[in-house]
Amino acid sequence: MPASAPRATSDTGDDFLLTPGPLTTSRSVKEAMLHDWGSRDGAFVRINREVLEALPRIVNGEGDYVAVPMQGSGTFAVEAMLTTFVPPDGECLVLVNGAYGHRARRILDIARRRSVVYETPEDVPPDLAEIEALLARSPSITHVFAVHCETTSGVLNPVEEIGAVARRHGKAYLVDAMSAFGALPLDARAAHATAIAASSNKCIEGVPGLGFVVARAVDLAAAKGSATTLSLDLHDQWANFEKTGQYRFTPPIHVIVAFHQALREFWAEGGQPGRLARYEENRRTLVQGMRALGFETLLPDALQAPIIVTFHMPADPRFAFQEFYDRLKDRGFVIYPGKLTVADSFRIGCIGRLEASHMRLALDAVRDVMAELGVVSASPRRAA
Ligand SMILES: *Cc1c(COP(=O)(O)O)cnc(C)c1O
Repeated sequence: MPASAPRATSDTGDDFLLTPGPLTTSRSVKEAMLHDWGSRDGAFVRINREVLEALPRIVNGEGDYVAVPMQGSGTFAVEAMLTTFVPPDGECLVLVNGAYGHRARRILDIARRRSVVYETPEDVPPDLAEIEALLARSPSITHVFAVHCETTSGVLNPVEEIGAVARRHGKAYLVDAMSAFGALPLDARAAHATAIAASSNKCIEGVPGLGFVVARAVDLAAAKGSATTLSLDLHDQWANFEKTGQYRFTPPIHVIVAFHQALREFWAEGGQPGRLARYEENRRTLVQGMRALGFETLLPDALQAPIIVTFHMPADPRFAFQEFYDRLKDRGFVIYPGKLTVADSFRIGCIGRLEASHMRLALDAVRDVMAELGVVSASPRRAA
C-alpha cells in the first residue's frame, strides 16, 4: 500500500467490519463492559431481566413468548433450540439453501434426531408448494426448521409463509433468525413459530458471547425432559430463571451488560423499523456503488436481504482476491470471502454500527484498490 493510502477507522480506532459478524459496535456498547459484577449482583440480575423481557417484543411475541439466553455463540442457541424442541423420537424437516441449514442438519445428526432435508441452491428460496407436498406425504415429520436470512449468500427466505404451511400440517416450527433478528420484520405469532434463535452480536449490535431463543412458553413447558445435554437444555435454563432469576452456570456478564446497552441504542433508533431503514440505506449505497464499478450481485434485488451482499468475482485476471482483501484491510475495511458452491464470490456486510457514509468510504477504497491492481472492469464476464 502506498504510504499515502488513507485508512478509515471507527470511533475507537478499529477497522470497520463489513462481515456477517462479529460486527462493528458503538463505543458506548464497548464502554458498558468497563466494570466487574458478580453473577448474583442485584444490578446485574436486573439488567439481565430487562434484556430477557425486551427480546420477545422485537418479534411481537410479548405475552405468549419468553426469551431464554444461552451462553456461547449463535450456534449454541441453534443447537439448544433443536435439541430441546425436537425430542429423541421426533423428525425434523430441514430447509437448506446454505451453510447454516447444513449446520442444523449436522446438529440433528450428532444428537441422533431423525431429519429430512429439502435443499435448494444457495440463491434459491424453498418452494412453498414443494414443502406442502413433502409434509403431506410425510406424517412422521414433527418439526420444520428454516433459516430467515441465509447469511451464506444473503438470500431472504419466506419464513412467515413457511410457518403457515407448517401450521396447516400441525408441525412445530423452529427458525434460525440469527442474522435477521432486530432488522427484518418477523412476527412470531403470524409465523406460528415455536421458537426463534438469534444472538447478541448481529443486528442488535452487541458483542459476541450470548445466544438466545425466543420460544412460545407453552411449547417450552412441554419440552421438559426432551433435551439430551445438560448445558444446552433450554427448559432447564428457563426453569432455573423462573425459580431463582439466575443463570445455572457462569454467565458472560460483560457481554450481557453490553447487550443491554445495545438494546437501548436499538430502541433509540426506532427498534426494528429504524434499524432496517439504516441497513437498507447501507445496502442501496453499497450495491449502487459496486454496480457502477462493474461488480454484479449474485442475487436479484427481490431476494437480497439488507444484511450481507454477495458479489461475483471479477473475471479480469489482474483481480486477485487475497490482494484485494489485504489492501481493503489496510484501508480499514474488512470484507468476507464467499463460501458458495454456485459461484466464485465474496461478501460485503451492511450490518453493524455503520452508516451510508461508511459505505461510501468503503466504495472509495474499493475503487482505489481496483485502480492499484490495474483492474479496469469488475464484471464477472470475460470481455468478448
Ligand atoms: C451467524 C449465524 C449463525 C451463528 O453463527 P455463530 O458463528 O455460531 O455465531 C447461525 N445462523 C446464521 C444464519 C448466522 O448468520
